[in-house]
Amino acid sequence: MELKKNDICTVEIIDMNHDGEGIGKIDGCPLFIKDTIIGDIVRVKIMKMKKNYGYARLEEIITPSEHRVTAPCGVARQCGGCQLQMMDYEEQLRFKQNKVANNLQRIGKVTDYEMEPIIGMDTPFRYRNKAQFPVGRNKNGKLIAGFYAGHTHAIIENEDCLLGVEENKDILDIVLGYMEANNVSPYDETTHKGVVRHVFIRKGFFTGEIMVCLVCNGKKLPNTDSLIDALCNIPGMKGIFINVNKEKTNAILGDELIKLWGQDYITDTIGDIAYQISPMAFYQVNPVQTARLYAKALEYAGLTGKETVWDIYCGIGTISLFLAKKAKKVYGIEIIPEAIENAKENAKLNNIENTEFFVGKAEEVLPKWYADNKGKADVVVVDPPRKGCDEEVLRTMAEMEPKRIVYVSCDPATLARDVARLAELGYKLEKACVADMFPNSVHCETVVLISRKDK
Ligand code: SAH
Repeated sequence: MELKKNDICTVEIIDMNHDGEGIGKIDGCPLFIKDTIIGDIVRVKIMKMKKNYGYARLEEIITPSEHRVTAPCGVARQCGGCQLQMMDYEEQLRFKQNKVANNLQRIGKVTDYEMEPIIGMDTPFRYRNKAQFPVGRNKNGKLIAGFYAGHTHAIIENEDCLLGVEENKDILDIVLGYMEANNVSPYDETTHKGVVRHVFIRKGFFTGEIMVCLVCNGKKLPNTDSLIDALCNIPGMKGIFINVNKEKTNAILGDELIKLWGQDYITDTIGDIAYQISPMAFYQVNPVQTARLYAKALEYAGLTGKETVWDIYCGIGTISLFLAKKAKKVYGIEIIPEAIENAKENAKLNNIENTEFFVGKAEEVLPKWYADNKGKADVVVVDPPRKGCDEEVLRTMAEMEPKRIVYVSCDPATLARDVARLAELGYKLEKACVADMFPNSVHCETVVLISRKDK
């Protein structure tokens, strides 16, 4: 059967892709169908056909998968944030562990390693300590905040995302009320006019401290006293900022930060270590799971107190400080200067004296340091952004001959690619453990132990 746009067909979902779209086949031709899960039998409408595959839209669920549940969030289907809310949590965990194992096999070409059981959450909601709400207007011109729909920048109104903290709604009500009262317009991407682009909110789960940052297409807002007064009624409010982003870009934060009120950072703790976090610094979004992930990373690092350790892509030093208590010396590298400032402050705050931090690109700083010092490492920890490690980083790392490499990854495909490259450089994957840092979304975090083949 030749499929074409607008055809209606019935199909069973037999697989899911890495974006969380269900896959069904008609006469061998795969169809990608958002909002479906393995086991569903669904009626779909073809939206677009390519040569060997197509995209279809879910019209009706004829027989639901045994793992299908009613999504607790009313806009789960429209919103691009949660791809898996309609899948029971056990099945989500299975999906994620499989996804990592498949990547390691297909791209990393490894099967001979131990996959430990995935670390899931007891309550997979209200876990995010950070939210970035785009602000805009709906069809009737009303000011709204919410999240982008999948693959577009249409804003789905939702001030109370079930993954975020309950204070988000009160804060958004205050910000939108302030904008209304003072004629502050939301930013419009198409015309590049208007002011407020996003409302960024971060809360320290253990301390209750909150910061709010209005990401603006400019440096000034009118009558900020009224905004500050209202926001200070939120318990835990510690800092209010404007982040200036005048670029035509999808990046949410710009480079300039203007403090309107309060202190430059919030403090939070993971385990027994306290961290100061500035608005621009990366900080893991799920504090409960972060503690578990770092405990696993520490276990894999196998420290005895004698080791020289490198923490590459160290952010505010979260992992570095965790490791420092058990190592002789920890070196950290991070590209964002504010994060390194935080890292240094955080070492002081926790009376940790055996760390040293470098600002810059890991792919430049590490090779240069190694060329100058010829220093070896006992353990290297890497926690790169989604694109994974640069070739220069992998090569220099191997030259430093650590016995163990602990690789923390938010993208199983680039992790698998780097595992394959490290195999060429003399390293073998020993263990992997997936931690569900992002329940209800397709994303997952993995930590692996890689060791030197000849040691
Ligand atoms: N290990 C930290 C941060 C991990 S996120 C934690 O667990 O909190 C990845 C970090 O890599 C971010 O802080 C990002 O700013 C940083 N980064 C991105 N590209 C980089 C590069 N080329 N060199 C060094 N750091 C980089």
